[in-house]
Amino acid sequence: MSWIKKARLLIAPSLPQCLFCGKRGRPSSGLPGICVSCHTGIPWIRCPRCQTCGRHVGCPDCSRSREPVPIRCNRSAVAYTSEMRELLGQYKYRGNERLAPILGLMLDKAYTILQQEQSEQQIATLQSNSSRRPFSAAKPNYSLIHPALWQADLLVPVPVSSARLAERGFNQAEQLADVLSLRRGIPQLPLLIRTRHTGKQSFKSRSERLADMKQVFAGNTEQKLLQRLGGHLESIAARLQNRPLQIIIIDDIYTTGSTMRACAEALHRLIGDLGYAAEIYSLTWARS
Ligand SMILES: [Zn+2]
Ligand SMILES: [Zn+2]
Repeated sequence: MSWIKKARLLIAPSLPQCLFCGKRGRPSSGLPGICVSCHTGIPWIRCPRCQTCGRHVGCPDCSRSREPVPIRCNRSAVAYTSEMRELLGQYKYRGNERLAPILGLMLDKAYTILQQEQSEQQIATLQSNSSRRPFSAAKPNYSLIHPALWQADLLVPVPVSSARLAERGFNQAEQLADVLSLRRGIPQLPLLIRTRHTGKQSFKSRSERLADMKQVFAGNTEQKLLQRLGGHLESIAARLQNRPLQIIIIDDIYTTGSTMRACAEALHRLIGDLGYAAEIYSLTWARS
């Protein structure tokens, strides 16, 4: 390094090091710890093309099958581009856990989109219901004047196998759910367990993956956990008089949706066994 460069480095106000690219750069205002250039490069999914799985491009998977799905819809924060794959790799496989709060913050943006969409749907349903009823001036419909913002009651992370957990040291879905849980005040409970370790999914065909996934997840029936769930259900009993329990399953990435569907089925069984009806959604950091 030339002495001029060295001198310049000494004089220049030191810029923070970006958590994504590792270079020193002007910090973005949108995501703490991320430089402006990385922030502008994020492939956000603001308007999903597929309303079911939240994909940013046309989606043959969802239009192909007309069978009922256990999940209302999926929303993801970003498209899984090569840059995002690299970023997830840094976090998941190279253990850069400092990225967890940022990725969680990005996931929170997908929650905002889901919340807006669901709130709009709620209002549309209320309006169509009230227009069918005969007009009554004496009894205005307060739910139309002050529509409540849609909110989830519970977050459930996709579990990883104990082998993965031992190797990686953390469950990425749980870390992401933690960020959302703190920001939104929605409890996070590990209501699912993985009953067996699946081989590398990327080498398998779609039908092989689907068959594989069927038996992988089960409800977590640990006594202490079910007590915590019971306590939470009691605390929101008033809400649940008018609607089912609204649960969001959290994961880092949505690929074919087979993991999410299998998780949702197991969760429906667990919640059903407790005598409740559930409406299940999913949120992931990336959509491939
Ligand atoms: Zn950067
Ligand atoms: Zn789709």
